[in-house]
Amino acid sequence: MILVKLKGLIVMSKKTIRDIDLKGKKVLVRCDFNVPIDKKTGEITDDRRIVEALPTIKYLLDQKCKVILCSHLGRPKGEANPEYSLAPVAKRISELLGQEVPMSKDVIGENAQEMSSDLKEGQVMLLENVRFHREETDNDPEFAKKLADMAEIYVNDAFGTAHRAHASTAGVAEYLPAVSGFLIEKELKFLGDSLDNPKRPYVAILGGAKVSDKISVIESLLEKVDTLIIGGAMSYTFLKAQGYEVGDSLCEPDKCNLALELIKKAKEKGVNLILPIDNVVGKDNEVDENGKLMSEYKTVPATQMPEGWKGFDIGEKTMELLKHELKSAKTVIWNGPLGMFEIDEFAKGTNTIAEALGKIEATTIIGGGDSAAAIEKAGLADKMTHISTGGGASLEFLEGKKLPGIECLMDKEKCCSREDDDGDR
Ligand code: ADP
Ligand code: MG
Repeated sequence: MILVKLKGLIVMSKKTIRDIDLKGKKVLVRCDFNVPIDKKTGEITDDRRIVEALPTIKYLLDQKCKVILCSHLGRPKGEANPEYSLAPVAKRISELLGQEVPMSKDVIGENAQEMSSDLKEGQVMLLENVRFHREETDNDPEFAKKLADMAEIYVNDAFGTAHRAHASTAGVAEYLPAVSGFLIEKELKFLGDSLDNPKRPYVAILGGAKVSDKISVIESLLEKVDTLIIGGAMSYTFLKAQGYEVGDSLCEPDKCNLALELIKKAKEKGVNLILPIDNVVGKDNEVDENGKLMSEYKTVPATQMPEGWKGFDIGEKTMELLKHELKSAKTVIWNGPLGMFEIDEFAKGTNTIAEALGKIEATTIIGGGDSAAAIEKAGLADKMTHISTGGGASLEFLEGKKLPGIECLMDKEKCCSREDDDGDR
């Protein structure tokens, strides 16, 4: 059972695969197999999302289910395109499961129908990329029904697309009993607990490129956290708002007023808002064929970013300040790299903070695709409590929005406020 929590109330609980009888049933499972694939070699470069789907698939196989997996991959814009075929994924799941996982040539066509109707208990198949049909993202009811017709039960385990109301993520639940898999259950537990019941001090670190991407999450976290750290290019809008020069850094001048409001709100709420006190600035971010930065860079105080330079990372003094702040933290949620971590010369801030998080005795939760990639790149993934598989979905969840891929699942029971729940029953 999953508890979907909103503003401190337990609104309702959603059924999971543990809550229904699945024995021998034909089950359609929506996974998030949207993995990075090297265009040249066709190899999957990070299979974390596939690995994370295995517990649900194995459980269904233990229940002797006939398992039909489906997912999207990339943005093929509603047309069949071999570049976005899920074939490499079928191969990788077969290897990981130690069992052949054939893939149909189409999604709802003859081949898919035939293969799914021939499935035996304990067998798994994969449908081709659901986004080969525009009807998927349009959440077309007929398309959803055709997907549903292949199975008896729908399991959603694709947290990464749970914030989208698409045919395979939500629409199909109109036609089949719908429950969540273990991955969605785990995501909601970690993200939900951090919102609802965090151990304190509770620190949020927000970085990334744009303030505009993360306004609502900043607003909602200001209601919850003790300390809010802002880094990445986002911080330059806050610096500019306070009247400092930011040179040629990425900045959103039209968001300066908003930044001032957020600073004011932090004060009112007693939240310790931390902005960089120094920054690494560069002339440019062009790299040579070995990935080495081609132009000069240096560290300057945040109040003195020189004209003609761009901020690309937090400086050493800021790193020290943040490390000190994190030492006593008991819950940390991190979304968005603190610099342009894709370039080694500008990855130090992000890596230093990732290392610091790996050392503290706290619940550490990472949300956001680029942040997760940065942690993987630094080899620190297994030091974190939870790395969310959903970038946009985890942000929307933290903003307090309802996720269509969760909302569409069957309710376990209508339930009550926390006060009622605390009663000694
Ligand atoms: P996430 O995917 O974790 O939510 P975002 O997509 O919001 O993170 O932001 C990640 C991007 O922000 C990265 O591509 C990174 O290069 C960029 N970024 C971070 N700091 C800077 C900076 N100072 N200047 C330019 N880009 C930056
Ligand atoms: Mg991103």
